[in-house]
Amino acid sequence: MIYLDSAATSYHKPAAVRHAVLRALTTMTSPGRGGYPSAMEAADTLYACRCALGDLFGVEDPANVVFTSSATHGLNIALKTLVGPGDRVVISGFEHNAVTRPLRAIGAETVVAASPLFDPDAAVEAYRRALPGAKAAVCCHVSNVFGYVLPVERIAALCREEGVPLVIDAAQSAGVLPLDMRELGAAFTAMPGHKGLLGPQGTGVLLCASDAVLPLLEGGTGSLGESEEMPEFLPDRLEAGTHNVPGIAGLLAGVSWLQRQEPGAVRTHETALRHRLANALRGRRDLRLFEAEEDACQTGVLSVVTDGLDGEEAARQLGEAGIAVRAGLHCAPLAHRSAGTFDTGTLRLSVSPFTTEREIDAAAARLIEILERSARK
Ligand code: PMP
Repeated sequence: MIYLDSAATSYHKPAAVRHAVLRALTTMTSPGRGGYPSAMEAADTLYACRCALGDLFGVEDPANVVFTSSATHGLNIALKTLVGPGDRVVISGFEHNAVTRPLRAIGAETVVAASPLFDPDAAVEAYRRALPGAKAAVCCHVSNVFGYVLPVERIAALCREEGVPLVIDAAQSAGVLPLDMRELGAAFTAMPGHKGLLGPQGTGVLLCASDAVLPLLEGGTGSLGESEEMPEFLPDRLEAGTHNVPGIAGLLAGVSWLQRQEPGAVRTHETALRHRLANALRGRRDLRLFEAEEDACQTGVLSVVTDGLDGEEAARQLGEAGIAVRAGLHCAPLAHRSAGTFDTGTLRLSVSPFTTEREIDAAAARLIEILERSARK
């Protein structure tokens, strides 16, 4: 399979991830639930993973690195901590349903800081206008549909000036772009462990600026067993129930692999592949490409609209040819409304650190073949 759906989840992972998961399955039990070696090894692994993530994302206290089951889980904790019914929340025009649906369920007043695709200055201006008086703000670092890198540092600075707590959705940037909680001053940053961080599905991370958090789940934590209430301290306050130890062990291996790469190497590789793909597809009348003028504004995600052939059908035919891509709205209808692609959706091709040039060439050639065959019909 040629896998070009890394924006959904990582598929090719360093071999160390697989080995770490298997090792955890055979040597580790539940951390914090016993002083015997297998429980202690699990506790050490979790702690090592918190430290590695803390180093990567500028979180001083590893206790503020909380394990979740997904980015969605972390975003729910963050939003339900900060926002109540009727509260005004400013979001970008590129948020995922993992942000908009919880806000809808809370009954928040959601204000979209609307701005065009690949226009960071306009995004900053839109937040500047919308922020005064807001209870919280949310910004996705990178759009999962278009790979658009939002100017999160400048938006974070505005939030600090206005005293508005910021939630960052780093689902598409973690492991690809630098992100520093200390410098950003965000209240929360949520991310999956299973995309750019190269861990297994079922892992996620919530970076918390403080322990002023509302648990989404109550239950056993292995600490303060005599209390009827959840501990006040992190990470226990947000980690009720038995941890996904094999998943977290795999996540640690993924993060360690990333830390061994040259700084910026993943980004450079992915950008080069996105250019290669776009170069092969550009200039056709039956394809509209969504490309930023500046590389700083886009990652290794390329969305296209296939004029003359339904995107889902193009994706199906690519799938039959062993090429995995995703068509439709990508759980982000708001992003499509912002870019004017809500009616068609897009065909999204997204690369990983392990994608090769040959795979890109083969996928581009097959897509062109599919379009030409459909035009002949
Ligand atoms: N936000 C964005 C921007 C995403 O791309 C995704 C995953 N598609 C999510 C949130 C949700 O991530 P998860 O599947 O880990 O809950």
